[in-house]
Amino acid sequence: MIYQEDMKNILLLGGSSEGFELAEKLHLHPEIHVISSMAGRTSLPRKPKGELRVGGFGGTEGLVDYIKTNNIAAIIDATHPFAEKISRNVQQAASKTACPCLMICRPPWQKQQGDQWHEVKNVQEAADILTTENAPVFLTIGRLELAAFLSRPDLSFIARAIEPPKPSDSKGPPVCNWPDNLQFIYGKGPFTVKGERELMETYGIRSVVTKNSGSPAAYAKIEVARTLELPVIMIKRPPVPEGPVVKNTKDALTWLEAKVFTGPDLT
Ligand code: NAP
Repeated sequence: MIYQEDMKNILLLGGSSEGFELAEKLHLHPEIHVISSMAGRTSLPRKPKGELRVGGFGGTEGLVDYIKTNNIAAIIDATHPFAEKISRNVQQAASKTACPCLMICRPPWQKQQGDQWHEVKNVQEAADILTTENAPVFLTIGRLELAAFLSRPDLSFIARAIEPPKPSDSKGPPVCNWPDNLQFIYGKGPFTVKGERELMETYGIRSVVTKNSGSPAAYAKIEVARTLELPVIMIKRPPVPEGPVVKNTKDALTWLEAKVFTGPDLT
C-alpha cells in the first residue's frame, strides 16, 4: 500500500466489468489511490489499474480493520449482483466505521415478448423445477453453486465456467468428483448470438439456467433461447442491501465527487 497524504484511498470491491472500468477511471485521477479487491476465485483475472489486493478480508470485522488500517476514504461495492455475502459485509463494515459507501448494481434483464422464463429464487429451486424434457440443460451460473444439480442424476447438463471447478471453491460442501451427466465447457464473455446459437445447437440444448446478472456480455444466450423457443430458468436477484445504490460507473463517479472530493470533476 502506498501512503500519500495528498491522496484519498478508495477501496473498490471488484469482480465485475463495472469494477474494472471504474478502476481505470479512478486511477487517472491525481487525488485518488484506488485499491481494487478481488475474492481470488479466478486464477488469471484481468488486472485492473491501480493497486490490487486478492482474497477475503475475514468477514465484517476483518473488513473493519482493513478500512481503519488503510485509511479508506470511501468504498465502492462493484461486486457481482449475486455476491450477496460480501455486499452485506461491506455495508456493515462501512456503517461501523462511518465510511461513505456506494453500491453499483446494474439493472436486471427484463422479460421480452417471446421469452419463456421461469423465475426462481435460487439455484436449488432451479435444480428442482427442471424436468426430463428440459435436458440437455445449459448451466450458465458459474462454477461455485453447481452442487445443487447433483440432486438430478436423471438429467444431463452442459455447464459453462471460466475455468475448471476446484473442490474448495464450491459454496456448499466440497465436490471432488463431478458425475458423468454433468459436462464442463470453458468460456469467458462477452458471448455473441452467433456463438451461443452454434453452441446450443451443437449440444442440442433444451433449456438454459442462468442468474439474472443483467450483464450485456452474457445476454446473447437469452436472445438465442427466445429464437429457439427454449425455456429459461431465471434465478432472480437477491435483495440489494440498504444504502446508496447507482446503476453504472458514471453515477458512481458523480457520487464519489459529492461525497469525497470538492476538486475537479471526476466524470
Ligand atoms: P460472496 O458469496 O458474496 O462472498 C464470499 C466471500 O468471499 C466473502 O465473505 C469474502 O470473504 C470474499 N469476497 C467476495 N468478494 C470479494 C472481493 N471482491 N474482495 C475480497 N473478498 C471477497 O461472493 P461470491 O458469490 O463467492 O463471489 C466472489 C467474487 O466473484 C465477487 O467478488 C463477485 O464480484 C465475483 N463474481 C461472483 C459471481 C456470482 O454469481 N456470485 C459471478 C461473477 C463474479 P471474507 O468474508 O473473508 O471477507
